[in-house]
Amino acid sequence: MEFALTEEQLELKELTHQFAANEMRPVASEYDEKNEFPEEVMKKAFEVGFLTSGIPVEYGGTGFSNVDNCVVCEELAWGCSGMYTSMMANTLAITPIVLFGTDEQKKEFLTPLTREMSFACFGLTEREAGSDNSMVKTTAVKDGDHYIINGSKTFITNAGVSKVGVIFASTDPTRGARGLTAFIVPMDTPGITVGKHENKMGHRASNTAELYFDDVKVPAKNILRREGFGFIIAMKTLDLARPAVGAGGVGLARAAYEEALKYAQTRVQFGKPIASFQCNAFKLVDMLTEIEAARLLVYQAAWLLDNNKKASKESAMAKVKATDVAMKVTVEAVQILGGYGYMKEYPVEKMMRDAKLFQIYEGTNEIQKHVISLEILGTIKNIG
Ligand SMILES: Cc1cc2nc3c(=O)[nH]c(=O)nc-3n(C[C@H](O)[C@H](O)[C@H](O)COP(=O)(O)OP(=O)(O)OC[C@H]3O[C@@H](n4cnc5c(N)ncnc54)[C@H](O)[C@@H]3O)c2cc1C
Repeated sequence: MEFALTEEQLELKELTHQFAANEMRPVASEYDEKNEFPEEVMKKAFEVGFLTSGIPVEYGGTGFSNVDNCVVCEELAWGCSGMYTSMMANTLAITPIVLFGTDEQKKEFLTPLTREMSFACFGLTEREAGSDNSMVKTTAVKDGDHYIINGSKTFITNAGVSKVGVIFASTDPTRGARGLTAFIVPMDTPGITVGKHENKMGHRASNTAELYFDDVKVPAKNILRREGFGFIIAMKTLDLARPAVGAGGVGLARAAYEEALKYAQTRVQFGKPIASFQCNAFKLVDMLTEIEAARLLVYQAAWLLDNNKKASKESAMAKVKATDVAMKVTVEAVQILGGYGYMKEYPVEKMMRDAKLFQIYEGTNEIQKHVISLEILGTIKNIG
């Protein structure tokens, strides 16, 4: 059993850490406050290769393994969770094409993303179809060698900045989730409108918006795999993406822990640093222990995926544990900073707001537990 990262992974971690410390951290609070997409930071992230990390080398990308990606995601979320989300959601949208696209589709849609800074979005959620994908109302109707898409998508990360989207639409509404089909849709196709940039609690640097499809004509050749295969594509993609969300939770939790540790050692009350009060010291111990445990689950899930082993349960466990840890640790970090923790001048305030989203997106933590329960108990009627 080997717990150490390789030399290359350690270098990658250090490179990403430097990027997060020098390019993301200094402007994180400004973009959060302005609720603005950080285009300049993203240009630099593109140059380093963070936006194309999910694209295989033969199509011009950086082609990270799952473990590499988790190492990188931890550092990016340490820098700024909102910026991390834009980059991670880009990889999420690229993944269905990498996993299920033909060589032609990969050349046509992935390679251009490696030539200039550009984004992809993953369009599954709708107003009535959040956790329950069988409620998707967006339809795609065959019309000769094209499909006509009508409907809308909600809470789509990178919706307003994407060149291409993987959009899930129903080609057979009688079959619920099994009637879903995944389409690769160039975002400049006539009939697509992007809604307003949402005003969120956290991750405010990431672009989130609704997407509207009004008679959008998409070539049949843009279908991933085949009609009715969309649900499987979405589930396989999320299995692969969840460790990276967990890694984001670990990075955010670590950032909050570091702030709390620093503060507890320097803040003096009753004539002593507050870290010398055992209740605070034990809080720091619990924070660090939880972070390390979460990271091990994240690496385990990523390692299983890299070794082509089934990892639905482990991916879901890594996502639940690491994102719950992010929530718990950021709340404790605010507590350790006392009143100052509650002020925007101190970074833990943003971190606590950012932590919440990790428990909600890419399948809520309740849905992850549903996935895990199915794996350990088999199919249970009347759940989900
Ligand atoms: C900022 C942001 C970015 C996002 N980015 C994307 C994106 O890029 N692409 C995309 O497709 N989606 C995206 N989403 C959508 C996200 O994945 C959904 O919000 C999430 O899946 C939950 O759906 P919902 O919000 O409709 O909640 P609901 O499904 O309505 O759930 C509400 C509550 O009920 C619980 N619940 C629901 N069903 C069950 C059940 N069977 N058992 C137990 N509890 C249950 C949930 O856990 C939750 O607590 C994003 C969301 C946000 C907020």
